[in-house]
Amino acid sequence: MKFEKRDVILITGLLLFMVGLLPFMAPLYAVLIVSLMYFGVKFYVGRRTKLIQRDIGLEGLCMDCGSKIVNKKCPHCDISDKE
Ligand SMILES: [Zn+2]
Repeated sequence: MKFEKRDVILITGLLLFMVGLLPFMAPLYAVLIVSLMYFGVKFYVGRRTKLIQRDIGLEGLCMDCGSKIVNKKCPHCDISDKE
């Protein structure tokens, strides 16, 4: 798992949420709920990131038309300059 700046925001928010839960339940349950939420969010974000990466591909998108780059070439824009 990569640690990113938005994780800090997520953890801060969840800690505040946990503090809000403390008056209503045992600290152990508050920690459990917050941990589950954290891993739920991480799982969701990780899966979404993977889907986006699969859509874009490892080589990225063409700057001109936004198509997927295949073999460092855009299938639409690079057809004209055949070697
Ligand atoms: Zn293109």
